Amino acid sequence: MSFDTIAVIDWSGASSPSPAKPSKDAIWIGVARRGAAEVETSYHRTRHDASETLAALFEAERAAGRRVLAGFDFPFGYPRGFAKAVCGTPDPLALWRALSDRIEDTPDNANNRFDVAAALNDLFPGIGPFWGCPESLDDPRLPSKGTLRDGHGMTERRACDRAKGAQPVWKLFTTGSVGSQALLGIARLQSLRDRFGADLAVRPFERHDTPITLVELFPSLIAPTVAALTEENEIKDRAQVRVLAGALAQLEPRQLDAMTREGDAEEGWILGLGHETLLEAAARAAFPPPNALKDMSDSDLMPPRLRDDCFAMPQGVAWVPVDEALAKLRDALHPVTGLETLPTSRAAGRVLAADVAAKRSNPPMPNSAVDGYGFAHAATGDGIQRLPLVAGRAAAGQPYPHAVSKGHAIRILTGAILPEGVDTVVLEEDTNTDGTTVVFDGPAKPRANTRKDGEDVAAGAPALPKGRRLRAPDLALASALGISELPVHRPLRVGVLSTGDEIIASPDRPAEPHQIWDANRPMLLALASGWQCEAVDLGHVPDDRAQIAARLAEGARKADVILTSGGASAGDEDHVSALLRERGTLSSWRIALKPGRPLALAMWEGTPVFGLPGNPVAALVCALIFARPALSLMSGAGWSTPRGFTVPAAFSKRKKPGRREYLRARLTEDGHAEVFGSEGSGRISGLSWADGLVELPDGAMEIAPGSPVRYIPYASFGLV
Ligand code: AMP
Ligand code: MG
Repeated sequence: MSFDTIAVIDWSGASSPSPAKPSKDAIWIGVARRGAAEVETSYHRTRHDASETLAALFEAERAAGRRVLAGFDFPFGYPRGFAKAVCGTPDPLALWRALSDRIEDTPDNANNRFDVAAALNDLFPGIGPFWGCPESLDDPRLPSKGTLRDGHGMTERRACDRAKGAQPVWKLFTTGSVGSQALLGIARLQSLRDRFGADLAVRPFERHDTPITLVELFPSLIAPTVAALTEENEIKDRAQVRVLAGALAQLEPRQLDAMTREGDAEEGWILGLGHETLLEAAARAAFPPPNALKDMSDSDLMPPRLRDDCFAMPQGVAWVPVDEALAKLRDALHPVTGLETLPTSRAAGRVLAADVAAKRSNPPMPNSAVDGYGFAHAATGDGIQRLPLVAGRAAAGQPYPHAVSKGHAIRILTGAILPEGVDTVVLEEDTNTDGTTVVFDGPAKPRANTRKDGEDVAAGAPALPKGRRLRAPDLALASALGISELPVHRPLRVGVLSTGDEIIASPDRPAEPHQIWDANRPMLLALASGWQCEAVDLGHVPDDRAQIAARLAEGARKADVILTSGGASAGDEDHVSALLRERGTLSSWRIALKPGRPLALAMWEGTPVFGLPGNPVAALVCALIFARPALSLMSGAGWSTPRGFTVPAAFSKRKKPGRREYLRARLTEDGHAEVFGSEGSGRISGLSWADGLVELPDGAMEIAPGSPVRYIPYASFGLV
């Protein structure tokens, strides 16, 4: 069963019509249709107007055979026991009827909700549970403050109101005034139930597959994402209904349908609670940033391909400095991989596709940082302190269920939640005890040896940023914050192809004296895997255009980007560049770099091709300097610049101006950079000898032992 039309309603408990000019804290409706990019939004000054609009929408969709899911941002149910107390049965829909029988709500929003709440309070012992009486009313049955309530026996919140920022249903006034919205909203929804009869179901109380389904929503579940996707000057309420409707319409029908069936049959349920990451990923997919993630279908969230002319570079001009070439490459590229959601435990090495926020605070509750004794600081002072011990103890995972009275202490262990009445802990080593009393030297510092709830990360705070390549510690953080699944990019598929008549594909085959074994392909494949890409071996082809063309076509099908080596210059035997030029998409970049010859950049059937030099030393340097940041960007992890540091040189060299140079280097025991004996670019042994590169600037430079030089370790290039 799937929904064709999603309506999201931001409700209001106002007592008069909202301003004529669209404003906040009024009723907003967002309507998204599956498959359509746009979400229509409308503003409503009164509940009457909004209800009529919804009824008309439901009529039209029902007539067209389209199933509607309508979500409202107020509670559909009350804490357990309330329905029974009001109407003698725990059936929440009997409560809907009872409430709507009592509520009067005129077309201009005038209503009797405070009288109704006061009368409901009368059904309970003591005072409450509703509160928030405006001063003008002064009804003794309805207290002005929550703290004035007493003895009513209802719990403060429903199980699902654990969502961050969720307000209790009893509160009629101020922040959210959720209680007022629910009383007035349920009455309106009851009239829609009467109007649509068996064609309408209220989840999770009713589970029939009807043309119209009503659910409870809470836009704050994905508040950071809504904030990130809010348009300039957009009213927050509008952004909420727009983003949420778009996100729900983007979800897989199966997932959405399953979500509507979750929850508690008496208290109700907030749709999507516990699936925030999925909702956030859906919202990001529904509203991709311009020029980035467009044209995504809901089954395979795929971004657009690169344009054929993306590597165009003015030709014939002088050599391009390395930094300019890098800037140009950075502008030309964007992320090209699709998205998926993975369990956190399987997401290492993947790139996060959206910002994620903490589901719960870490730590969730104030607790003890040490093994020792806990007590109320206020009851202690200077000098020797003797506090009687209460029976029992508080340990991690074994909370002490009672309050510790002032002047008493409790045995407490590291990680244990501070029991009620305890705010300070004294370290075991600083105490003495006979088992009934604990003795220590005062004064103790207030809150000593305790950890505040949320002192590490507060619920809802940003936890991990979009674009982060997830490492082991990131999985620890996500797990500690209750994030069970993560929206990630699929791995970038990197095809690697070697060319050249002289190349023998692998050293397990014999080579004649005029032949050499392929050194570049194993190197480039290992680089790609080390960069957490999916390395695709495209093998080796001789210098034959037809064969190169066929293999590039295969690469374009199997990979997101292709690295070739060999034949990339402009000579007679440089078949890769000749072929790419023939197809018209080649851009040969003459980069002022040593070692390195022109870098051939081209598009082959929509897939970018990096034509690296054949010489293994130049191939590695070009791969580290150009391919690595480019692949990182295409993977969704953003552009990357290797971190180097300045060390004294252990060599001498006079460098001419004009080209940036990279020398194979490693650190001596005393931290100086030594370079490989020969700069000859055919010396593969130097690549293996080295632990990194020394980068010499574009200009001239005179280096003597001790001169500062920039050393970039292989590890900074992600070489593993
Ligand atoms: P090319 O760029 O094709 O002119 O090649 C430059 C030099 O690199 C030549 O000496 C080639 O033999 C050598 N070369 C090209 N491809 C490879 C490879 N895959 N492995 C080792 N050496 C190579
Ligand atoms: Mg060649």
